[in-house]
Amino acid sequence: MGRVAYVNGRYLPHRHATVHIEDRGYQFADGIYEVVTVSGGRFVDEIGHLERLDRSLRELEMDAPMSRAAMRVIMREVVRRNKVRDGIVYLQITRGVAPRDHAFPATPTRPALVMTAKSMSMAGGAARAADGIKAITAPDIRWDRCDIKSVALLPNCLAKQAAREAGAYEALLVDADGMITEGSSTNAWMVDEDGNLVTRQADNNILNGITRLALNALAERDGVRIVERGFSVDEAKRARELFITSSSSFVMPVVQLDDSVIGNGKPGSVASRLREIYSAYMTGENREAAAGVGV
Ligand code: PMP
Repeated sequence: MGRVAYVNGRYLPHRHATVHIEDRGYQFADGIYEVVTVSGGRFVDEIGHLERLDRSLRELEMDAPMSRAAMRVIMREVVRRNKVRDGIVYLQITRGVAPRDHAFPATPTRPALVMTAKSMSMAGGAARAADGIKAITAPDIRWDRCDIKSVALLPNCLAKQAAREAGAYEALLVDADGMITEGSSTNAWMVDEDGNLVTRQADNNILNGITRLALNALAERDGVRIVERGFSVDEAKRARELFITSSSSFVMPVVQLDDSVIGNGKPGSVASRLREIYSAYMTGENREAAAGVGV
């Protein structure tokens, strides 16, 4: 049995899962998405992701294709049909199919919903986290609404490609003032020279990560206070620790930024501890700690 995708009401073999050429997602990137991790057959922070999905829809004046309850049924069915125990579900909603015109269609279109699921080995990420990863800096050339999880990811793709070409895992994006906003597909954190755990405030210039929110709650429960403020490339390079978070990387230590070694070049104790706490949270051990975390 090969992979199965959900496309606008139908479960299709992955290779036959297609949308119309005048789908506004294809033509204008007029759509939004979410990636939800599946761990041991259970969704991690499902409600947080669906709340952020609703927020993205609202911000773009897009209708939901169906109720949240119906969407949750399809998420489970896609996971079941693809036999995923550990992996991700990808959900994408676009404004739908309409004759090409920049303005929204005069007669509202039916939003298009696509879902896929795939298995992912947890071992690769764990090995990477044990060594720590290398990151580069790249200019943040995105728009002013990075808080919306839009499928318009070209600047993020260019930055990730630059990272790949430099033999790095992630690119940290830098604004015109020399401040790190976030990674191309992750949020950025550091332990500063004074030992404070710092991450940028959730403003319009970053995506408020669901992992970021969960970690905020988990760290606080662990007695670690988080300072939400911007930080510069210079400060990041002088930091005791640097790490990134996302639904697929979890907590990933960064041991080199451009040519600068971070700390002693090994994953730091704070990042390692937070990765442990987050792993336990994913597998359900302390799940209630971050319950109610919204966006
Ligand atoms: N920032 C950006 C730009 C991202 O694409 C992602 C991953 N979708 C994140 C941050 C992390 O968000 P999350 O923790 O919800 O995966």
